[in-house]
Amino acid sequence: SSSTSPPMPRHKVTTKGSNVPPHAETFEALRERYSIPSHIMSNLKEYGYTVPTGIQSYGAPILLESRDMAAISPTGTGKTLSYLLPVMTALGVPASSAKSGAGAGVRAVVLAPTRELAHQIHNECLKLAQGRKWRIVLFSKATAATLADKSVRDKVDIIISTPLRLVAALNSGHVELHNVRHLILDEADRMLDSEFLSQVREVVDACTHDNLQKAVFSATLPAGAEKIAMDMLRDPIRVVVGLKDT
Ligand code: ADP
Ligand code: MG
Repeated sequence: SSSTSPPMPRHKVTTKGSNVPPHAETFEALRERYSIPSHIMSNLKEYGYTVPTGIQSYGAPILLESRDMAAISPTGTGKTLSYLLPVMTALGVPASSAKSGAGAGVRAVVLAPTRELAHQIHNECLKLAQGRKWRIVLFSKATAATLADKSVRDKVDIIISTPLRLVAALNSGHVELHNVRHLILDEADRMLDSEFLSQVREVVDACTHDNLQKAVFSATLPAGAEKIAMDMLRDPIRVVVGLKDT
């Protein structure tokens, strides 16, 4: 492959919870265990993601086993890929390409506190999506309006949004969340703080599917936010990545 990133620093990882699945040292090990689609594997290679980071190695198996998770890992350690890879693997085929049964509404939602962060997540998602007709929507006032047509919005695979934007679309009937299977809260320390908490709860309450997986990601999680997260999650596994002592 042409592009190669420098190796990410190694971190110490601790996990807590019931039946924690074993971590995966390599993307190849993940593929063998969880059937990562081939286009995603080649996109990883294409973008120079050769070795999974700590949170990817420990967190991805947890999400791929459909577990809820609270992940704490420092800034710059690849938290985005650690949830996008499992979520896109679980979705399998884009709704627009599925033969039947699909198109019942968006199946994955990622919330981030600012438009800029949502934009960065969207970019990372587009890298993994290359080669398939994924419909990934970065929510804004304008895109919300294009989703007024139900047949269009029912074929959306992933929504990336700030809480306020998504709640506004929910309330104006431009989006339904009853088919969401994966709900990710990124920068969870902010999402579960007073500024966003009531909007986040509105989104969580609108995700009514029985098989809803929830996960929160953050660089830090103060005690108050952590308690809210643990109450929101079902039998969660907590993963903490710290700088390795040298
Ligand atoms: P975080 O959310 O933890 O702050 P990001 O998800 O924004 O981190 O990732 C930080 C940077 O690391 C991004 O540029 C991303 O493309 C890159 N990256 C992620 N995973 C890997 C990997 N396995 N190998 C090399 N670079 C990676
Ligand atoms: Mg991040």
